[in-house]
Amino acid sequence: MPGVVTVSRHRCGNSGCACTREGKLHEAVRILIKFKDGYATRCLSQEEVDSFRPRTEAYQRLRKARGNLGKWHKEVIELIDQIERERRSLEGLSEEDRKRPLR
Ligand SMILES: [Zn+2]
Repeated sequence: MPGVVTVSRHRCGNSGCACTREGKLHEAVRILIKFKDGYATRCLSQEEVDSFRPRTEAYQRLRKARGNLGKWHKEVIELIDQIERERRSLEGLSEEDRKRPLR
């Protein structure tokens, strides 16, 4: 599931409540989802937390693996290019062809 489960702490605004009098903030477990046009967040019941949390964690692992693969891919391409630069052989070509840039 593409989102993050987080705990938010807030005051309810009620002057008689412990959150205002004693600073004991209310906690709510929320899911935060990024959409193309903005964020969505909503409170989750315990049942929803149990269902959503492992699924959002699996999604985060997937995204992380995807990012790592991208970095790894770039590194490998750079290594191959380096090997090519260091081992390129133009022996046997004419002087003129040796100077021509490759496509
Ligand atoms: Zn309160």
